[in-house]
Amino acid sequence: MPNYFVNKNSLAGRGHEVHQQGCPYMPSGRDQVPLGFHDTSNTAIGSARLIYSNSCCCDHCLKTPE
Ligand SMILES: [Zn+2]
Repeated sequence: MPNYFVNKNSLAGRGHEVHQQGCPYMPSGRDQVPLGFHDTSNTAIGSARLIYSNSCCCDHCLKTPE
């Protein structure tokens, strides 16, 4: 079960990107908000959206749930 993080910074035109631990596009440590361990990226993005309503999936390590 992977560990997920959301970027504290909102990216222009995208929002707050959610990443799996180990993604090369992870933000630096102080910009990571931990989401904990999730079975699927859908529950991870759900948790991220409780913090940042405009959270989105990293194109590299996650698939957009819609
Ligand atoms: Zn990523």
